[in-house]
Amino acid sequence: KTSPIKTVNPFNNEFVKAFDVMSDEQVESKVALADAAFQTWKKTPKKERARLLHRVAQLMRFRKPQLEVLATLEMGKLLTESRAEVELCAAIFDYYADNGEKFLADRPLQTPQGSAFLSYEPIGVLLSIQPWNFPFYQITRSAAPHLMAGNTMLLKHASNVPQCAQIMEDIFIEAGFPVGIYQNLFIPGSKIDVLIADKRIKAVTLTGSEPAGSSIAAAAGKYIKKSALELGGSDAFIVLDDADLEKAAEAAVRGRMWNAGQVCVSPKRVIVEESIADLFLEKVKVKFAALKVGDPMDEQTDLAPLSSEKAVEDVMKQIQKALEQGATLIAGGHRIDCPGAFMEPTILSNIQPGTAAYQDEIFGPVFMFYKVKDEQAAIDLANDSDFGLGGSVFSSDDERAVNVARQIDTGMVYINHVTGIAPELPFGGTKNSGYGREQSPAAIYEFVNAKLIRVT
Ligand code: NDP
Repeated sequence: KTSPIKTVNPFNNEFVKAFDVMSDEQVESKVALADAAFQTWKKTPKKERARLLHRVAQLMRFRKPQLEVLATLEMGKLLTESRAEVELCAAIFDYYADNGEKFLADRPLQTPQGSAFLSYEPIGVLLSIQPWNFPFYQITRSAAPHLMAGNTMLLKHASNVPQCAQIMEDIFIEAGFPVGIYQNLFIPGSKIDVLIADKRIKAVTLTGSEPAGSSIAAAAGKYIKKSALELGGSDAFIVLDDADLEKAAEAAVRGRMWNAGQVCVSPKRVIVEESIADLFLEKVKVKFAALKVGDPMDEQTDLAPLSSEKAVEDVMKQIQKALEQGATLIAGGHRIDCPGAFMEPTILSNIQPGTAAYQDEIFGPVFMFYKVKDEQAAIDLANDSDFGLGGSVFSSDDERAVNVARQIDTGMVYINHVTGIAPELPFGGTKNSGYGREQSPAAIYEFVNAKLIRVT
């Protein structure tokens, strides 16, 4: 129970299972194995790599009932969301299995001298550090493209989802991946810098918080290694005066309640033109009132607990601070009186520039609501953020919405939809949301050497 690596069910805060932290010797043997495995994996034909990725997808679908229960047990998300997550992961494995060979094919370059092409070559052992909010998807989006490219991977998952980490390692082995291609590290974050310094580790990829990103990128920079970072956001959800308000309110509430609000691309800052703001807010409140809070294993539940007791305490502190700094509470704002990590769906308004809530990401079911006088004010407010991950624009005029989307400084903008996830579409941000792209063809080029070969 004293190990930091353990399952605690956030629905009732009961301890379930602990895992031993790996010793330095165990970690050393895993690094050595990953490095040795790379020597053969890089020469393994792409067709064979693809066959194994397809097999992982198949096994995930086959084991869906077991996987979905584990995700819900460990971090509290709705069982229906866990199920959708497993299906998404299988689709991502299939996507890179189907397309990886094509993406990695030599690319001819035009040159007046001789002929030239790019050869995409894997670089070696990657260290992947992932968070708990999508315990299978976060593994998948880093493993699928980079294993397809011929790299090997050491995965340090968040300390509160060890059973999800373990079952994925088991699935890779069962799928037939040679030993050492994909391995878990059960270690705390404090052990990561030593690993980044290790010559056998060639690059690092992280999804997580800004402090973790800054520390990992600093260590990678020190040893001149590439990093990719996805560090969350405070996405704007812009509702223009010609939007279908019912559709917009429905999307906002569903998007914000997704994963109990713990999604990096959740619509956190709702920015509405003032002529329709009150009507929109009424619709959101009606939808809030209809949400059923309860056991995430129950398919009738709409709003799940947060991922841990600490997570709900942190969000309550952020709300408290926002109120002390002058924000107004329009709905919710309290914990729900029950044993688990539950809180009410919440709306804050009157959030002033310079305050914590104006700038910080709130990782829970909380809207920050802003009324603005016009379209330009909405764009300016959307961009007045240190984050730049996703965003949404709602309007009945696609051309107008696209014009607004072009002026928003983020990596992704969805029109009349919350920012989503799909195997074939890139995912990633600008500014403090990090750098690098996941999914889509782009992800597979993050950790390869695009080597120029010129023939005279
Ligand atoms: P962290 O960034 O602390 O954790 C993410 C992963 O990084 C975990 O595996 C964690 O390991 C590891 N880690 C943390 N600090 C370091 C470090 N200094 N060096 C190496 N590895 C490290 O996120 P939290 O779970 O604490 O969540 C805090 C906030 O982060 C959230 O409120 C949210 O704002 C943001 N976040 C964003 C996510 C996104 O999808 N972009 C996902 C999760 C969080 P360990 O568990 O062992 O600490």
